[in-house]
Amino acid sequence: MGVFDSLISGILPYAPKPLVRVVARRYIAGETINDAMNTVRRLNGEGTMATIDALGEFVKSAELARAETETSIDVLQEITRQHVDSNLSVKLTSLGLDIDTEFAYQNLHRVVSRAAELGNFVRIDMENSPYTDRTIDLYRRIHAEFPANIGIVLQAYLHRTESDVRVLAAEGGHFRLCKGIYVESETIAFKSREEVQQNYLRCLDIIFDHGCYVGIATHDDVLIDGARRKIAERGLARERYEFQMLLGVRDPKRRELVAQGHRLRVYVPFGHDWYGYSIRRLKENPSIAGHVFKAIFTGN
Ligand SMILES: Cc1cc2nc3c(=O)[nH]c(=O)nc-3n(C[C@H](O)[C@H](O)[C@H](O)COP(=O)(O)OP(=O)(O)OC[C@H]3O[C@@H](n4cnc5c(N)ncnc54)[C@H](O)[C@@H]3O)c2cc1C
Repeated sequence: MGVFDSLISGILPYAPKPLVRVVARRYIAGETINDAMNTVRRLNGEGTMATIDALGEFVKSAELARAETETSIDVLQEITRQHVDSNLSVKLTSLGLDIDTEFAYQNLHRVVSRAAELGNFVRIDMENSPYTDRTIDLYRRIHAEFPANIGIVLQAYLHRTESDVRVLAAEGGHFRLCKGIYVESETIAFKSREEVQQNYLRCLDIIFDHGCYVGIATHDDVLIDGARRKIAERGLARERYEFQMLLGVRDPKRRELVAQGHRLRVYVPFGHDWYGYSIRRLKENPSIAGHVFKAIFTGN
């Protein structure tokens, strides 16, 4: 982390909430399901698909985890009702993984069952390393029952990911590959940008080798270019993969990829927890603060 980033990330958690709101507005659709739907409709109009995330994580109360489960089901129903092109992303700690694994399984099962009834899809976001094993376990249980309606995220910065990819891709499935956003120890994670990039492209090859569908979630030109090269070399049809980006990040690049004929999905977070979410992300990964600061002053 640069001195600049650490300075900004130190200051932002104490910044007035309205200032953080100005910044967050770019990355978060709003507080309500309708705010998310409006954003998705705009993205769909630009030829872009979406995945909606109802903000919430590290939930400690069963009542709240049940409410989060209902919100995710409401999102799926609203997607169908409003005929927008979006699926759903969920974090297992919002469905109660910190409370009890079986309880989280039941909640996830309810959400994915509803997605299956509606012909939609649920992506399990990957959280920090204490949750990796349990997230993969619950994914595999649900995937065995609903193979077309659930997918998982794999993080290229973890040493373990190459072997996870080999096991999971051999079972078939639908993956999102990202670098990983949490701060992890060097005993379990690659720390240099180049190592993470190399591992990312290695894992992407393994997924392609197994013929699995993949969401290439990155804004990094090295990875976007590397993925485009692999897609061209393998002659992959556009139905075999998609690019994925976060709301408000690198819009010109997103439009370029869509104009080139690639499928692209934008991650659309919404919810009342926008403030806590923004601050937690900044504390976890201060390098984001540099982007945020730039966004405040340049609007880019
Ligand atoms: C659709 C999607 C879903 C994700 N899901 C998960 C998940 O489940 N678990 C997880 O751990 N991580 C997830 N991530 C985050 C991911 O792991 C990375 O932390 C994040 O994408 C930044 O890495 P990068 O590959 O874009 O490369 P970077 O090198 O970080 O970014 C490349 C360039 O993109 C721009 N950029 C990147 N981030 C921002 C930003 N916030 N604001 C403004 N500009 C920015 C900058 O110009 C930067 O130089 C997800 C990312 C995406 C796109």
